[in-house]
Amino acid sequence: MDKNTIEKSMANKKNKLNTSYNISNNFEYVKSNISLLQAIELYGFMPVKKGSHYFIVCPFHADKNPSLAIYEDVYHCFGCQTHGDVIDFVARYFNLTPSEALEKLAQDFGIDLPSKKQKKKFKRQALKTQKDDKLYKEYIRKYNEVYDYLCNLNQLYTKIKQAVEKPDDINIPEFVEACHMHDLIQYWIDLLLEGNIEDKIHVIKEVLDWKIKMK
Ligand SMILES: [Zn+2]
Repeated sequence: MDKNTIEKSMANKKNKLNTSYNISNNFEYVKSNISLLQAIELYGFMPVKKGSHYFIVCPFHADKNPSLAIYEDVYHCFGCQTHGDVIDFVARYFNLTPSEALEKLAQDFGIDLPSKKQKKKFKRQALKTQKDDKLYKEYIRKYNEVYDYLCNLNQLYTKIKQAVEKPDDINIPEFVEACHMHDLIQYWIDLLLEGNIEDKIHVIKEVLDWKIKMK
């Protein structure tokens, strides 16, 4: 990779900063935004591709051939068996503590570490998303329940209506009731299928209340 490519990929990484809500600590935050390969290149190494992985001359032992392999998130040296992730690499190479390595990476890649306030905000958003997901799942579950229930009733009342044989039967209360119910049920089904979200929620609520009353 030449410098331009690296800069471009760095810029890309910055634009696509991973702000997923589960970032509970800065280590994960930095690791999810800086790849090991990018860091190794930024600090002056020239990875060479051997097979499906990149290798560099290991800075942690007297290495002649590139024997430090770079995997997606970790490196491993086949000479001195050193092994770790991007933070570990930077800490070891620059003789820093992990926290110092973290700060260095963030600074060198122009990443603002989330402040305590931002982290709190992420957490709040995460909780809200969880809550929304739960509500939505609940809504879908009820929607399906109500829809199935209405379809069964629809079939039942269709059968009752079909059971009418003589013209006089039209006046029997069960038939009148079935006709009325059938219309209502079809109206509810139409709203469930084609109404807007408020209509659907309204129908779900109404049908569930009604179901309780019918018991
Ligand atoms: Zn080594």
